[in-house]
Amino acid sequence: MSDAEWIRIPALSDNYIWMLHNPSSKELAIVDPGDASAVIETLDARGLTPTVIVNTHHHFDHTDGNAELMEKYTLPLIAPAAETARIAGITTTVDDGDRITIAGYDAEVITTPGHTTGHVAFYLPDCFGASGVVFVGDNLFSLGCGRVFEGTMDDMWSSLEKLRALPDDTLVCGGHEYSAANALYVESLDWARPEAAARIAEIRALRAADKPTLPVRLGDEKRANPFLNGDAEDLAAALGMAGQSATAVFTALREGKDRF
Ligand SMILES: [Zn+2]
Repeated sequence: MSDAEWIRIPALSDNYIWMLHNPSSKELAIVDPGDASAVIETLDARGLTPTVIVNTHHHFDHTDGNAELMEKYTLPLIAPAAETARIAGITTTVDDGDRITIAGYDAEVITTPGHTTGHVAFYLPDCFGASGVVFVGDNLFSLGCGRVFEGTMDDMWSSLEKLRALPDDTLVCGGHEYSAANALYVESLDWARPEAAARIAEIRALRAADKPTLPVRLGDEKRANPFLNGDAEDLAAALGMAGQSATAVFTALREGKDRF
């Protein structure tokens, strides 16, 4: 039985920096520190000392705090091999299927290209006893997914399929609080999926109370998030695309969101 603790730090305009604390070994991982000062404030308030930084992709709002934190605490930096040229100071590069240890917990590296070409997710299967956590960066959000900046729509759909294959109990830690905007788009689709309607209502209630909507259980997103349902007949029908491929449906969905 493991006993990890996750810590969520709101940063910049709508980012979440995640930390994973191992109370037994006193290790602590910082995931995607876009802002060093927000992290330091939380560490000081909690009396915690970090032991590693992990990056999912190269965007500044996920990496800008790397240098200051690495210097202050003498930290190693784990980041995607395919983004080496765009992330300074990496000490350990990772690629698809790599098995590593993060804060003393077993972790699997899953390449999730699309948002950026080298984007990865870190899946820790059993840090909360029977269930795990996945740090997805800007690949997956509640009721949404990341913009496809560098890869193809095919890449992004394949990446989301990989994340969808993880167990329902997995906690999804995404990099942005975009849920309310995503909910508006999902509502506009006329997709009669009760789980989507339920999640939209839940998100609105949380945001109205100024509460975060992440992390979210992956099993709930599998049913409620249209971007994880490119191959679902009811979604294709709602988009007037019955019988078309999952990639085609996903592409229409993503392009629709880009214009929304
Ligand atoms: Zn990004």
